[in-house]
Amino acid sequence: MENCNSFTCPICGNTDMHSIGYKNGKPYCRACISFRGATAIETNYKPQGYKIYIDYELSKEQKELSDEILDSYLKRTPCLITAVCGSGKTEIVLSTISYVLKNGGRVGFAIPRVDVVREIKIRLEEIFKDNLVIGVYGGHNDILLGDIVCLTTHQIFRYERYFDLLILDEIDAFPYRGNNTLENLVLRSVKGSHVQMSATASKTQIKYYEDKGWPVLRLDKRYHGHPLPVPSLIVKSGLLKYYELYKALKRFEHINKQVFLFVPTIKESERLFIVLKHIIKKVNIVHSKKTDRKEIIESFKNGKFQTLITTSVLERGVTVKDLQVIVFHADSPLYDSATLIQIAGRVGRKKDAPEGEVIFIADRTNKEIEDTINDIKKRNETL
Ligand SMILES: [Zn+2]
Repeated sequence: MENCNSFTCPICGNTDMHSIGYKNGKPYCRACISFRGATAIETNYKPQGYKIYIDYELSKEQKELSDEILDSYLKRTPCLITAVCGSGKTEIVLSTISYVLKNGGRVGFAIPRVDVVREIKIRLEEIFKDNLVIGVYGGHNDILLGDIVCLTTHQIFRYERYFDLLILDEIDAFPYRGNNTLENLVLRSVKGSHVQMSATASKTQIKYYEDKGWPVLRLDKRYHGHPLPVPSLIVKSGLLKYYELYKALKRFEHINKQVFLFVPTIKESERLFIVLKHIIKKVNIVHSKKTDRKEIIESFKNGKFQTLITTSVLERGVTVKDLQVIVFHADSPLYDSATLIQIAGRVGRKKDAPEGEVIFIADRTNKEIEDTINDIKKRNETL
C-alpha cells in the first residue's frame, strides 16, 4: 500500500492528511464519511410560483437592507447580515428569494438546528403559498426537491452546486460553528450566491467578509422599534435561589403569562420538573432527548402549558407571543454571552406584544452575564 502526500477530498474539500484513510490502497476522506446518502439529482424541476403573502410592511431599515441584499445577489456577491434578535432578518431576504424563484432559480435555507428548520419551513410556507416549500432533516429526507428547501446544515451534503441562493442562518450555532467539513459542504451546495445571517456573528466572521470586500450589513433595530428587554439579575445562593425562582414563576402564573424556564443541563431540567409539577400549574419540559419536542412546543404555543422548562434547545428561532424568560443558573459555564443574548431575544418578538421580562437567577454574577446586560443596553442606545 502506498500512501500519497496530498489528497483533496472531492466531496468536502478536506486536505488534512490526518483525516485521510486508505482502503485497497486508495485514499478516502474520513472527515465527511458520516455525510452519505441520497443526493438531489438535477431534473427539469421548475419552481411553481412566486407571489409573496406577507401581512405587514418593512421598516425603512429593513427595506434598505432588503434592497442591498438583492443588489449583492445580482452581482453574485455573498453577504453577511448581523441583526439583533427580533429585528426581522427573515423578512429582509424575502424579496431576494422571490426574485430568484421568479427567475426559475432554487432557494435553500440552511440552519444548524432542526427545531428552527421546522419553524422556518412553516413561516415560508405561509409567505410563499404558491410554491413548494420542503423540509429536509434527519429522518425526514425522502423528498429532496422543492422550490425552497429548508434544511439542517447536516443535510447539505445532498446538494452539489444546486442552490441559486443559499441562506445560511444562525451561523454561530453548534454544530455548524467551527466545523470545517460542514462549512466546505455548504459552499459546495451553492451555484449562485449565499447570504449568511446571525444575531451574534463573531469578529472573525465579520473580518472574513470584510477582507474579501463582501458586504457586511447590520440591522440593529427590532422591526417594531421597541428596545430589547434588559435582563434583571437576581443573585442568591442555596435554597434562596430556588425561592426566587418559585416567586417569579408564581407571579407569572398570577398574571397569566407564559414562561420559558432555561436551565443549563437536561439533568437539572428533569430534577426541577419533578419538583415544580407539584407546586405550579400547567408546567411541561422539553430538551434535546425528547422525541416529541415538536408536539410539546406546539401545545405550549396553543396555551396548554404556562411554563416550559427547557435546555438551550429553545435558545434560537422559536417564536412565542408575549413570552417571559427566566434563566436559572445563569452563571453556569455552559452559558456564554452569545447564548444569553439569544435567550433574552426570545422575549418581545411580536409587534402587538413587544415587551416582556427576562430574569437571570444566579449564585453570582460573572463576565458573561455582565457582557450580556451591557451589550443589550448598548444596542438599545442606537434605537
Ligand atoms: Zn471529505
